[in-house]
Amino acid sequence: MADDDPVRLELDEIRDRAALAYASPKGMAESGADVPRLVETITALLDDHKPVPLYAAGPRDKPCDCGHDFDAGCHDEGGNGDSLCLCQPEGFACGWCRENLIDPTDAEEWPCNTYTIAAKALFGEEVRDGQA
Ligand SMILES: [Zn+2]
Ligand SMILES: [Zn+2]
Ligand SMILES: [Zn+2]
Repeated sequence: MADDDPVRLELDEIRDRAALAYASPKGMAESGADVPRLVETITALLDDHKPVPLYAAGPRDKPCDCGHDFDAGCHDEGGNGDSLCLCQPEGFACGWCRENLIDPTDAEEWPCNTYTIAAKALFGEEVRDGQA
């Protein structure tokens, strides 16, 4: 992006205000006023990056591992006629990344890249399984 990228310019100003926050009460107040906007920004970025369950496909002509028949209400039909067992998610993926990434295999494990980057910046360390 060019030097006139408004988002990066604003972040530079927020960073400058944060650097002066402890220099004076006025600096503290000015930097503190940035916090709600920053929280809103991060919340908006992460809003759609949430784990969604992935269900395993199984045969529909014999009882499923969960012990229920296909028609028991805990099974859904997959895209190719498979029986998806809603009793037993086999993992989680990021809903947004799964829908939108060009290579959806990147989204097959939760937490996704976007969430991981945000968590690392927030906590200063990696998270596992979405737990800080
Ligand atoms: Zn994601
Ligand atoms: Zn089942
Ligand atoms: Zn079941």
